[in-house]
Amino acid sequence: MCGIAGAYGVENAAVVVSQMLKLLQHRGQEAAGITSSDGEHLFVHKGSGLADEVFYEFDFEKDLPGTSAIGHLRYATSGDPGSRESIQPLLAVLRHDQEIALVHNGNLTNDRPLRERLQEGGAIFRSQSDTEIFLHLVARALASELPLKFREAFTAIEGAYAMLAISKEAMYAAVDPYGFRPLVMAEYKGGWIFASETCALDLFRVVGKQVEPGKFIEITKKGIRTTTFDEQEKTRHCSFEHIYFSRPDSKVFGKSVYDIRVGLGRQLARKFSLTSEERENAVAIAVPDSSNIEALAFAKELNVPFEFGIIRNHYSGRTFITPKQKARELGVRMKFNVVTSVVAGRDVYIVDDSIVRGTTAEKVVRLLREAGAKTIHMCIASPPVVHPCHWGIDTHSRDQLAAAEATVEEIRVRIGVETLTYLTPEDLQTELKDQTGMQYCTTCFTGTRPIAGKLIPSEHLHRHSK
Ligand code: 5GP
Ligand code: MG
Repeated sequence: MCGIAGAYGVENAAVVVSQMLKLLQHRGQEAAGITSSDGEHLFVHKGSGLADEVFYEFDFEKDLPGTSAIGHLRYATSGDPGSRESIQPLLAVLRHDQEIALVHNGNLTNDRPLRERLQEGGAIFRSQSDTEIFLHLVARALASELPLKFREAFTAIEGAYAMLAISKEAMYAAVDPYGFRPLVMAEYKGGWIFASETCALDLFRVVGKQVEPGKFIEITKKGIRTTTFDEQEKTRHCSFEHIYFSRPDSKVFGKSVYDIRVGLGRQLARKFSLTSEERENAVAIAVPDSSNIEALAFAKELNVPFEFGIIRNHYSGRTFITPKQKARELGVRMKFNVVTSVVAGRDVYIVDDSIVRGTTAEKVVRLLREAGAKTIHMCIASPPVVHPCHWGIDTHSRDQLAAAEATVEEIRVRIGVETLTYLTPEDLQTELKDQTGMQYCTTCFTGTRPIAGKLIPSEHLHRHSK
């Protein structure tokens, strides 16, 4: 996952974008960047670290001037995580000295064949980023007008993308035909602002509407124009946005993340029936912060007390984001500490939003044991993650996934808990209100691939590799 934001026709656009990036920081912490346009030139500033660090004591008026800007927060799911060349926005100078900058959230799924064929045609790449492929496709498109070039490039790419781009004069936004990743927009001070999540728009007291899947938006001085570049019967909104990625105060794909998490917590509680005696010694705790809401709803539904049994150090960053497994393990200890008086001698119902690799669960259980928990019941407010995601979640291969090869019982033993309870994919669909499975992608839980690995027609690629 990554976060993107943009502003067009707004005074000090880069300042507005930087504020939105800070509100989207949970979506990516490896790098941040902004490109602005003053109508004559594009300006860029980007670097590794949090938005606050990258733009520390930054002179926006001088170094990122203008009334349009786009920004990006990086969470590497493609390319080399440490590579500076992959930090977005990516800039390119096209034919007739037309400059563009691009930010992208999501993963392209046909990036390998596209990259190979572009390289065979002589294209030079500066990074491993799939976003760069898109830039090449735009550059090679036959059409001369930028909007048409974009549309041509969309026909070649597959996968997940919410994108924002600017040229000197215009701004563009697009969401892939399945709508894997969220993007919202709103009118603001006579112009337009865009963000991955509504929590970034709340600062400006504007209500966002979703950029619909398969739509391409072009904004110039003349106004705004929305066109459809692809239409699908189904959408494939990422269910993990609701489970984990997005902030609970956001509305994502038109639904409150908070409300869905409450529903998931309740469903989980319904899988237990405790006697009043069992309830007396029980305590429900969250693995903060990602499962706070689920845990609270779980406790209420089960009629057991909710306590803060684990305290999170807010200065150590998200553990999952640490790319190396060793660092991740130490990270969990740096991140969480247990309140002994809450858990000692108690039957602890610990609620987490998900188990991916199982690292967090194992470590947290060890901490709870050390603190003297009597029994530990691990309650997961989503189904087992059995399949890698190719559309933006950072789980590339099956061997990284705790549940890919193991049964729930085997995972229970590995984690070392008395009970381990997950939701089912059906429970999830119920809470997403997607009974027919027409709206959400649940591939990571079911293994069913929503899109066949369709190859790009060779005639099209030939055109692009000229
Ligand atoms: P695990 O330690 O099992 O690999 O990861 C599970 C923990 O990481 C959960 O506490 C969950 O909140 C969080 N998590 C789950 N999926 C993701 C993800 O795709 N990215 C990040 N950053 N964290 C995740
Ligand atoms: Mg978590």
